[in-house]
Amino acid sequence: MAYDDSNIFARILRGEVPCKRVFEDEHALAFHDINPLAPVHVLVIPKGPYVSMGDFGAKASDGEIAGFFRAVSRVAEQLGVGASGYRILANAGADANQEVPHFHVHIFGGAPLGPMLRKITAQA
Ligand code: AMP
Repeated sequence: MAYDDSNIFARILRGEVPCKRVFEDEHALAFHDINPLAPVHVLVIPKGPYVSMGDFGAKASDGEIAGFFRAVSRVAEQLGVGASGYRILANAGADANQEVPHFHVHIFGGAPLGPMLRKITAQA
């Protein structure tokens, strides 16, 4: 899938759409999710044009990958959930219901988050 630079996160990166920013450096931007699903729900996105985790892993430089994941852990600490615990999640593609085609990691926390995933059985 080719990167579509009209997606909402690309527009946020270009400053065309506002966001509630919590962190920014050369590799990553973090901002509050517009529809929070937990007391803490923040998105961390790389600055480069990567569609998904697979695209990021295949095409980003080692420096971009290291910088991005360092930013994720730094944001979690900054949000105050490092000690209490948090969950990171990245949806990739159709089965995961990825809505925005710019790679992003969700950080959830601020309360007990329950089981990792509802058990799903394969459909015949
Ligand atoms: P995903 O299903 O993993 O692609 O998640 C996309 C997330 O982006 C959802 O949780 C949305 O609530 C969130 N989102 C969409 N538009 C915005 C926006 N303008 N600002 C902040 N979060 C957004």
